[in-house]
Amino acid sequence: MVGFDAVVVGAGIIGSSIAWRLAQAGLRVALLDSGRMGAEASWAGAGMLAPGGEFEADSPWAAFALENLRSYPDFVEELTAETGETIDFQQLGAIEVAFSEDDWRLIEARASAQSMLGITIFRMSPQELHEEVPMAAGDAAGGWFYPEEGLVNPRDIMRALRTACIAWGVVIREGVPVRAIRPKPKEAEIITAEGAISARWGVLAAGAWSSLIPVAGCSLPRAFPVRGHLTGLHLEPGSIGPILRYEQTYIVQRADGFTIAGASSEQCGFNRALDPLILAGIRERAARLAPRLANCDFAESWLGFRPGIESDGPVIGPAGGTALWLAYGHYRNGILMAPVTASRVAQAITSSSEKDSSGPTGTR
Ligand SMILES: Cc1cc2nc3c(=O)[nH]c(=O)nc-3n(C[C@H](O)[C@H](O)[C@H](O)COP(=O)(O)OP(=O)(O)OC[C@H]3O[C@@H](n4cnc5c(N)ncnc54)[C@H](O)[C@@H]3O)c2cc1C
Repeated sequence: MVGFDAVVVGAGIIGSSIAWRLAQAGLRVALLDSGRMGAEASWAGAGMLAPGGEFEADSPWAAFALENLRSYPDFVEELTAETGETIDFQQLGAIEVAFSEDDWRLIEARASAQSMLGITIFRMSPQELHEEVPMAAGDAAGGWFYPEEGLVNPRDIMRALRTACIAWGVVIREGVPVRAIRPKPKEAEIITAEGAISARWGVLAAGAWSSLIPVAGCSLPRAFPVRGHLTGLHLEPGSIGPILRYEQTYIVQRADGFTIAGASSEQCGFNRALDPLILAGIRERAARLAPRLANCDFAESWLGFRPGIESDGPVIGPAGGTALWLAYGHYRNGILMAPVTASRVAQAITSSSEKDSSGPTGTR
């Protein structure tokens, strides 16, 4: 493979969104994945677009999460318009449920810190909660409503990204593990089992696997897998409504009624064996939130590897002064944070490319 302006390593939601944006800007792009495009964390994720479930202290990442949340409608609209793919994207909000006085005080303190960050939150009485979510536990003491939060099916996003990338001429190569990267100031050499590819730019976006790929001359923040289980069942569409959260448990419902309960969090390497005890624990916790789930047959369970990171947020930026860009470590929020990660990386690369004498050469 020769003649690319940019080679993106890792075709999850992060690498694929970057490849799409770079190709839209006129760069010739290759997108490489050791497995199948979008088959890892970006297939497994629940798809909550929910900064209120994640952030309470002021930080650049809290602001970044909110910027992404506000970008999502345009991101989905553009992908849909370009590809004609249907994307299940719902802006139904989220409810943090309280059961006890202690829960209530905790959530209240959190909510007041979050409103300082610009997160919109309303208090809900028990009656309002039960009107909004008839399936919620009868003994719930009310909740806090986050009206701006939403939900997307990441598998729909990945299908649309594949279509969009192909339409813009991105060369997608699956089953091609990258063995090493040799970045230089004006070039990145990507070493695969099939040989080396040189490009003006490299992008490392291999999720939880990112720091397993040796990058010559650079010491990069370590990424590591944080395994999460999810389990799902079919219910009537619209029977849940907003995202329901309580402590580490959540329930979300796709537009077709498929309802997902999550999640777990384990650090056990890349162990792909589903753990029945962990799944039973998730179902029990979910039934605490919505008792009807106690009597239901769950149709499907799966797991994925969140890209954990040894830094206080995802790594998005150049590797030293080289032609390699890093975009990994989005941990629990990679579905949420894809739109702005992609536009930032693509804008930085294309504005540097414009300064190069050669400039981008590709066309749709
Ligand atoms: C159970 C669970 C629930 C989640 N829920 C949410 C949620 O509600 N909201 C949210 O925003 N986020 C959620 N996440 C997190 C989100 O899924 C991730 O942050 C996001 O998918 C990361 O995307 P990525 O592209 O960085 O990684 P991935 O999707 O994992 O993609 C990385 C790609 O790199 C490829 N790769 C690996 N090694 C190599 C190599 N050597 N050469 C070439 N390619 C390679 C892999 O095959 C893979 O396709 C959840 C994750 C899990 C597991």
